[in-house]
Formats: sequence, C-alpha cells, structure tokens
Amino acid sequence: MIRDISEIFIPRTASIQDALELLNKTGQEMLLVVDSSQRLQRTVTDGDIRRLLLANGDMSSTLEGLPDLKPLYVSQDDDSEAAKRIMVTNKVKHVPVIDDQQRPIGLISAQDLLDPILLSPPHIGQEEISFVHDAFDTNWIAPVGPNLDLFEKEFALATNAQNCVALSSGTAAIHLGLKVLGVRPGDLVFCSTLTFAASAFPILYESAEPVFIDSEPETWNICPEALENAFQKYQAQNRLPKALILVSLYGTPPKIEEIQSLCDKYGVPILEDAAEALGSKYNDQSMGTFGTVGAFSFNGNKIITTSSGGMLVSDDENLIKRARYLSTQARSAEIFYHHEDIGYNYRMSNVLAGIGIGQIRLLEQRVEQKRQIFAKYQSSLSENGLIEHASEAPWSLSNRWLSAFCLKKEVGFSGIEIVRKLQERGIEARPIWNPMHQQPVFSDADYVTAGGTSVADKLFGSGLCLPSGSQLNETQQDRVISNLLNIIS
Ligand SMILES: *Cc1c(COP(=O)(O)O)cnc(C)c1O
Repeated sequence: MIRDISEIFIPRTASIQDALELLNKTGQEMLLVVDSSQRLQRTVTDGDIRRLLLANGDMSSTLEGLPDLKPLYVSQDDDSEAAKRIMVTNKVKHVPVIDDQQRPIGLISAQDLLDPILLSPPHIGQEEISFVHDAFDTNWIAPVGPNLDLFEKEFALATNAQNCVALSSGTAAIHLGLKVLGVRPGDLVFCSTLTFAASAFPILYESAEPVFIDSEPETWNICPEALENAFQKYQAQNRLPKALILVSLYGTPPKIEEIQSLCDKYGVPILEDAAEALGSKYNDQSMGTFGTVGAFSFNGNKIITTSSGGMLVSDDENLIKRARYLSTQARSAEIFYHHEDIGYNYRMSNVLAGIGIGQIRLLEQRVEQKRQIFAKYQSSLSENGLIEHASEAPWSLSNRWLSAFCLKKEVGFSGIEIVRKLQERGIEARPIWNPMHQQPVFSDADYVTAGGTSVADKLFGSGLCLPSGSQLNETQQDRVISNLLNIIS
C-alpha cells in the first residue's frame, strides 16, 4: 500500500540499485520517473530494470539509460474506462493518474478495477439456508408459518422489544407505524430531514403533511433546539403534529432524552425509524424501542438482511395487533371475507423469515465487525485532522452501519467529488443522504432549523459513506484508505 504517490517517484539520475531498493521497499510493481518539477516522464517496472541491467550490466548505472517512452497515464477527469482501455491495450497492470501539469497524483491498478469494493453488500451466514429449506420441505411457503414466529421471537429477544410484527420492508413498517398512531390526511408529521426518503414517503402515502427538522452536528440526528422551534411554531397555529419520525442516522443514536422530553411536553408520540440502527443502543436499551412504535429494515444493504423485509415493534400490544391485521389485508375474524378497513399486503413471507432467523443470530458479531471497520477508518483518516464523524455519546453505542465521515473545507473537495474519484478506482462510496427539504417531491414541506444555517446541508455537502460491508478485509480497507488519502492529500 502506498500512502503517498510521491513514495514511488524516482529521478532519472537515480541508479539501478536505488530503483531496485525503492521497488523492494514500497512493494509496488512500478516506479514513476519524474523530472525536477515532478512531472511524469515514464514508468519503470521490474522488467524495464532487468532489460537495462542486461544491456549495461551495472548496478550503479543510472536510469538515464532507459529509452524515452511516452508515459501511459490518465488525467484526473478521465473515468475508469479510460484506465481499463490503457491496461488492456498496453498489457500493464497500473496506470498513473496525472494532474493538469502532468504531475502524478494517483495510481490505478487493474486489481482496483477488477475487484470493486462495495458499499455494504449482504453478508449471509451458515444457518440461513437451512431455515429456508425447512420452509420448502414443510411447504410453508405461504406468508405465515413457523419461521415467521421464530424470527419475531428471536428479534424480540435480541432487541428486548415487547411486541413485534415482521413485514415486507422497512418502508411498510414506517407506513403501518403512522397508521397505528392514527395519522390521517391533513395531519402534520415531523421528520428528520437528513435521512433516506423512505423515512418520509409514508407521510405522503397518508396524505399527511411533513415538516422537516434540521440535524445537530454531534450525532447528525434531529436537533432538539430545531425541534423545539418547530413545536412552538405549530403550537401557535394550534396544529401540533400527530407524530415525530426520529431517525438514528447510519446507526448513531440521537439525543434521545432531550427529544423525548420535548415530545412528552407537547404530547407527540415518536415513531422511531431505526432502519439503520439495529443493534445500536442508548443507555443499554436498543434503538427502535424508545418510540411508541419503532421500525427496522432488513433490506439487502442493512446490517442484517432478509433480502427485503422490515419489523414494527412497540410496547403496546394493541398497536402491533392492529399493524398485523392491517398488514394482512385487514381481514376480520369472520369466516367469510369481511373488511372494515383498508388493508395492505405487507406481511413478511415465511421463506424470507428463515433468512432472518439465521441473520439475527449474527447481529452482535455484525455490530462488532462494523464498529471495527469504523475504528480503523477513524484512526487512519483522522491523523491529518481533515475528517470528522458523527459521535456516539459515552452512554450510547452506534452499530456504525455505514462508516460516514465529513471532510473539512480545507480538503477542497465536496463529498460527491470524492465519491466520483473513488468510483474511478473501483471503490463504491456514497454521499450522505441528500436532505428531504431539498427534494423536489417534498418542495411544499416546511423546514425548521435551530435558527442559524442548515446543519444538514453542510453535512450533505462535505460528507461521504465509505465501504463498510462486514466482510471487508484489511487489504481492501487499506486500499480504500490509501486511495482516499491519495485523493485528499
Ligand atoms: C433503508 C431505510 C428505510 C427503508 O427500509 P426498506 O426496508 O428499504 O423499505 C427507511 N429509513 C431509513 C433511514 C433507511 O435507511
């Protein structure tokens, strides 16, 4: 791994001995011959040196004996296809990236392009398939059955949720959460602005009206002062919201005590969107169990997955009973088909619940892996003081579902620019969620801050999520880190 591309710079006047030592020391397969202004002249490989030695036969002879070659490179604005073409046409494994003065600023390797590092791919264990087989063997393919019961039971144990119902997605869980809290057309619903759109879409499903609340810079979640402003504003209009959708962004718990006491003061229930926060805790209590209802997601990229799925939890048994009823087409107990409410086909299938059983048993391990990945990024990237991240209070624990960081202004790149540059190097990073108050689909919605500039917009501008899959190995993570440092240094 090279930290800094200049580690493999070598002047033309260096000896073969120097070049071999540098190749050995850096463990790279290539050096870059640069002139006194650090402009790229040509590349040198092991093979080039072997040929030079055979021709001159002397370790002290200099690289000046190398023929002038038009160097192969891509410019910083080229995409990864350009690098691929050069590699294929010239049969080389590395291509330098140069700036507009022809100075090398990076190195793309074939391995980077052939073996992309993904953001957060599913990580399936050993047991899942056996529960899926059970479902097939016993013909319990219908959306009810023993896997579902067991998954709900194990999920409740893992989170200490009192009651839960497994659903087809996290979005379905949020939607039914709003329904059981009695949200009706025209009602107000407050919601974190810095989140994925699925937190807020269900508000529109019910023709209710979202009001988005800004983040605070510590946890990146709802800012208590902004929330208080919103409560005061709408109380003055005699229009308090029916619910607050509270997100734990990237798994980091919000300032739950301040937020809860404000919601108690104004008598507004919390719907926790814990889609990203399974396994996260506050005062040793699972996120998702603080709200009147809590929603989780088991989508493919989440910390555990059923390929697609969700869970709604509550201390109130009646709310979960009602959600279960609505999730299965609102059929009443009569033997004939009788419907008093609009129903939904939102129940999780028994087959997918089998995957969930295997996955929930791995939760603690996954949290540990994600936290280790985060810790390594944090220690490797914080050296230069250019990077910030959401912090967990000492009494809380973030599952660090995605390792998210913000770049300080001095870096000179936006989060999106860095995401693009990493993409060129075969690394899948993502920007921070684009705040809801910026989305055209929510353009009618109000947005409330603590008074100053929008924190969520600032986080979006400078933030990015780095590859955080629980199988990410050390070598891959080193590749992400060295590429990122390369880009920003
Ligand atoms: C993933 C996610 C959802 C939606 O969950 P699905 O299972 O994909 O429907 C909702 N909210 C947040 C914050 C999420 O990250």
